[in-house]
Amino acid sequence: MPSAAGTLALNISEVPPTVTLSSSESTTTDPSTPPGPQIFAIANQKGGVGKTTTAINLATALAAVGEKVLLIDLDPQGNASTSLGIARNDRAPGAYEFILGLSPMAECIRASAIPGLSVMPASVSLAGAEIELIDMERREHRLFDALAAGEESGGEHAARAQWTTILLDCPPSLGLVTLNAFVAVDAVLVPLQAEFLALEGIGALVNTVERIKKRLNPKLHIAGVVLTMVDRRNVLSQQVEADARQHFGELVFGTTIPRNVRIAEAPSHGLPVLIYDNACAGSQAYILLASEFIRRRRNASAQQVPSPP
Ligand code: ATP
Ligand code: MG
Repeated sequence: MPSAAGTLALNISEVPPTVTLSSSESTTTDPSTPPGPQIFAIANQKGGVGKTTTAINLATALAAVGEKVLLIDLDPQGNASTSLGIARNDRAPGAYEFILGLSPMAECIRASAIPGLSVMPASVSLAGAEIELIDMERREHRLFDALAAGEESGGEHAARAQWTTILLDCPPSLGLVTLNAFVAVDAVLVPLQAEFLALEGIGALVNTVERIKKRLNPKLHIAGVVLTMVDRRNVLSQQVEADARQHFGELVFGTTIPRNVRIAEAPSHGLPVLIYDNACAGSQAYILLASEFIRRRRNASAQQVPSPP
């Protein structure tokens, strides 16, 4: 039975000790902590690899340990919005209006049923943004500019001041909307489906990240690769995992997400699987992933060299 979203909150005491995600893991909730990477794109131009599932469940787990999380749905399919129960008639203004500078952030955001997690929904208009952006000034910087609005005045309304983590669920393409995401974020998380041809096309993604890093966003990097829909009994799945670890080394998260039917069921209930059934193997894996994500971010933050005065 799905748990009632209102009663959320990811009941951390219900999960076995091996997968406890304690609130002490979260360093970002302490405002005195030096800021690590804060804005992440979840991207892979290949369709159906688990981007949205990873975005909503990571967002939910981070909110459950006390972070203030914003999930921006950048896919005109609106799957993240659907998975978090945002009605189709309540998706504008949303990401489209925000990127095009038609509405301020506050008007583009909805609360979700999960305490601490807000959503900027996507409507089908976002599909038009790919074309409309082409002729616009600073066409790759629109999302960056919108998120940075108010920053120069030290404003509490700037995105980085309002949210401890912002996750961008990207569409399955390397078009202008995804480029806007790469210019706006600190880092990219890449879900990789453990199936045939998983690594095909990954070169184009890595090259795009490198190109944006060189020209438009020097801090951009791949923060991690998440293997999804892993079936350890399947030889092909094992092979893909081995290839990914050989290719990306330490970038691949130790935690992998198993293929799990509860994960596939959850979106039709408008709930992240973490709320729909937080004891299932898929939820347990996403809790572990969030825990590893927090650890990695803390390490990245500790390694940051303070800027000279
Ligand atoms: P798109 O490129 O279309 O945006 P995506 O990369 O965001 O897709 P998802 O929507 O997260 O991928 O997942 C694709 C489908 O696979 C969905 O129906 C989802 O419920 C299902 N799915 C995702 N992860 C798992 C899993 N670990 N086990 C079983 N089903 C999964
Ligand atoms: Mg998606």
